[in-house]
Amino acid sequence: VQADAIDPVWLKRYPADVDWRQAFPPAPLTSLMDHAVATYGNRPAVDFLGKIMTYEQIGRLVAQAAKGLQQIGVKQGDRVGLFLPNTPYSIIYYYAALTIGATIVNFNPLYAPREIEHQVNDSGIRVMVTLDLAVVYDKAQALLGKTCLERIVVCPMAGVLPFPKNLLFPLVKSKEIGRIEKSARIVHHKGLVRNDGRFAPVPIDPEATVAVLQYTGGTTGLPKGAMLTHANLLANARQLEAWFPAGRPGEERTMVVLPLFHVFAMTVCMNYSILAGACMIMLPRFDLDQVLDTLAKKKPSLFPGVPTMYTAIANHPKIREVDLSSINYCLSGGAPLPLEVKHIFEKLTGCTLVEGYGLTETSPVTHCNPFTGVSKEGSIGLPMPGTTIEIVDLEDGQTLMPQGERGEICIRGPQVMAGYWNKPEETARAMSGGRLHTGDVGYLDEDGYAFIVDRIKDLIIAGGYNVYPRMVEEAIYLHDSVEECTVIGIPDEYRGQTVKAFVKLREGAILTAAELTAFLKERLSPIEMPKQIEFRDALPKTLIGKLSKKELVQEETEKYKAR
Ligand code: AMP
Repeated sequence: VQADAIDPVWLKRYPADVDWRQAFPPAPLTSLMDHAVATYGNRPAVDFLGKIMTYEQIGRLVAQAAKGLQQIGVKQGDRVGLFLPNTPYSIIYYYAALTIGATIVNFNPLYAPREIEHQVNDSGIRVMVTLDLAVVYDKAQALLGKTCLERIVVCPMAGVLPFPKNLLFPLVKSKEIGRIEKSARIVHHKGLVRNDGRFAPVPIDPEATVAVLQYTGGTTGLPKGAMLTHANLLANARQLEAWFPAGRPGEERTMVVLPLFHVFAMTVCMNYSILAGACMIMLPRFDLDQVLDTLAKKKPSLFPGVPTMYTAIANHPKIREVDLSSINYCLSGGAPLPLEVKHIFEKLTGCTLVEGYGLTETSPVTHCNPFTGVSKEGSIGLPMPGTTIEIVDLEDGQTLMPQGERGEICIRGPQVMAGYWNKPEETARAMSGGRLHTGDVGYLDEDGYAFIVDRIKDLIIAGGYNVYPRMVEEAIYLHDSVEECTVIGIPDEYRGQTVKAFVKLREGAILTAAELTAFLKERLSPIEMPKQIEFRDALPKTLIGKLSKKELVQEETEKYKAR
């Protein structure tokens, strides 16, 4: 990285030759909460739909929940499941379990029962924390007796709401309260935290203790738990702190609408906010009107999101009437940010939308564009302090590629996971050569900025030529009528694979496949041109809101087989 070409704040704070172990000394992640409670005690930590809790209140509940968990038998090294949509309980039980040396396993409340069961058995959790809402409680209860799960801690939704719970609808999809079984297997939050908060202290070796087992498909697609240690997660929060231009400790307000069970929100929205003593303005799920209303009324200064969120906001008919001037930083990550979306969003809101990059295995942030200095369009930016990027040959996976050439992106740094839980072979493959192989194809420009070309597994090989779906998507997004698109490779008798585009148009827009093809002809090479274009009212998304290719690939493969 040429220091004079850029001006990220961290380069001043941490010169290039800094030893990251000194810059970010490993410590238990729980030190963040201890520090926030001691320093920002009477400041708001969470604002959940108008219910405000201070750091002191959260800290007290963390200590009480820690003791309560110990009382029901949770020991150091045990895994504790969190099966929660965003609520203050997500923060309380996360830090409570970590405080007593347990490992968190996050569950997505929208998972299918089969996926949940697999994750429970694979991680070996004995205790799971959930809400009394039927949507989650019923799924959790079904696991008792059927898996290794022994106990469920049930948190009352009404306990964290500033208004009667029947007003919750439609904020969570269903307001129905589950029929809570009466047995020793069910522990109620209120009873669990009824204690003096004096838990038995547990020594935590930050580099050896797994704080979170975060499940991911990784590059092979099979779900596995990435072991993120206390030191990994702490380092990533500190790296973000170094990246943000001198924030105002105790004054920042973070919009928390990304789900906290996802690694992006866990680190950027929660852990970083706690480090900065920020107030987390939390919503239970992404409801566009509610998000806009909250942005206008609660005036967050930091708004992390995934590209589809910014697309939805930028396309809202009333966006011009909403005052978004409080937002100082928007950080997009998790998936490529189409340039068009970035431009529209920035024009409408007046704030800079900065793109970053990362993955579950890296806690997750490895790259980000600087907030001050040069933010390069289409680039994921520069490595976080203490992080090294290496581009290796796609064929042998080891030879370093010269600057400018494409290859697989590999990462080294304090935020890189300890490995996959109980999967030594997968770990060895992902970590070969001592670096994490991301499965993403990219290159570096002359200033050290990284550009992602695509994921290795999404690469389309058409007639022997590499086609990167992302390049085709970028071209399609340039058309004014397009709101979202996904490009995949479909089986083709002659070329092996060929390009197919799925397109969602903006409301009211009219566009034919022939018109779009004519538009693309000027922007794509013949081999990249979609041979098929299909318009849809909605495109499949992952549970965090990234556009998803899996379902479309499967549909097309089945169609091909059935011919
Ligand atoms: P996950 O582990 O589920 O969070 O997914 C990580 C993957 O998301 C990465 O390996 C990338 O393929 C993709 N990703 C994350 N951020 C970006 C970005 N800014 N641009 C392109 N792809 C991204």
